[in-house]
Amino acid sequence: MGALLDGKAYADRILAEVKVEVAARTAAGHAAPCLAVVLVGEDPASAVYVRGKVKACAETGIGSLERRLPATISQAELEAVVDALNADAKVHGILIQLPLPKHLDTKAILDRVSPAKDVDGFHPLNQGRLFQGVKGLRPCTPSAVMRMLELHGVALSGLRAVVLGRSEIVGKPMALMLLEANATVTLAHSQTKDLPAVCREADLLVAAVGRPGLVEGSWIKPGAVVVDVGINRVEDLALGERIFAAEPAKLAKLREKGHVLCGDVRFGEALQVASAVTPVPGGVGPLTIAGLMRNTLLAAEDH
Ligand code: NAD
Repeated sequence: MGALLDGKAYADRILAEVKVEVAARTAAGHAAPCLAVVLVGEDPASAVYVRGKVKACAETGIGSLERRLPATISQAELEAVVDALNADAKVHGILIQLPLPKHLDTKAILDRVSPAKDVDGFHPLNQGRLFQGVKGLRPCTPSAVMRMLELHGVALSGLRAVVLGRSEIVGKPMALMLLEANATVTLAHSQTKDLPAVCREADLLVAAVGRPGLVEGSWIKPGAVVVDVGINRVEDLALGERIFAAEPAKLAKLREKGHVLCGDVRFGEALQVASAVTPVPGGVGPLTIAGLMRNTLLAAEDH
């Protein structure tokens, strides 16, 4: 029986480290790092994420400012907001909360954020730096997962790692960071043939797909470390009965509330095979916010 890989606890450790470094910075007479969060529209999930980020800023001594903008904002108006934040010397990091309303060109907005303030690590210049293995702001989720694996004592060199999902936000940068740490990396995706067999080769399996309960216990190599990045809302009881067969408490909650959050991995099944598994919620989500705080500090240090 495996153990819970407690992402929340590791996130708290990363936040505590950031807090100490922020305090040292301000004690030395420098301004506290400051994160600007841009939220366009009224999407309730985005509002929750923004609240979490602002709260983490307060907890670590990082300053924050919110720019709440109407869903009707034009591309030019939003670009002007980004330009103003780029030019504001008090702002060290800029985060554009996604998704943006459909009429806006997301890539053009993200590319407009100054690379020096790009705390999400999405700018092509920072992506290029990651590709080259040089210093730069890196995407929060994979970099915080790397820190968790380090704190957990996972020896990555020579390890067989499989990353499921090839998004620019998680899958691709995760694969590059694991490669940099000398793991042997397979990047699997929706077109991969015989996904279960590919996953079964993994000493470290990172799932970032967005499909509830895709990864079954039988896909996992005994003793593997499993990191579940997926965050999925499940309302369908028939689906829940299938994927939560080994998680009676989750199934009961689904029956009671009509919805639950879960990852891409069948957590209850995975616990029976893996050596360690991150839960959802309470795993990679808090780590991502901790990674954002670290990036904001790094952005401030480069000023
Ligand atoms: P995305 O939709 O951009 O990419 C999904 C990837 O999964 C694609 O590369 C696709 O090829 C692959 N895929 C889709 N179906 C597949 C299948 N059946 N088998 C194998 N691969 C398949 O997603 P994303 O932005 O990387 O997010 C992935 C998940 O992680 C989502 O649930 C998202 O909510 C979550 N997420 C969580 C955090 C966090 O903080 N915990 C951060 C970012 C994303």
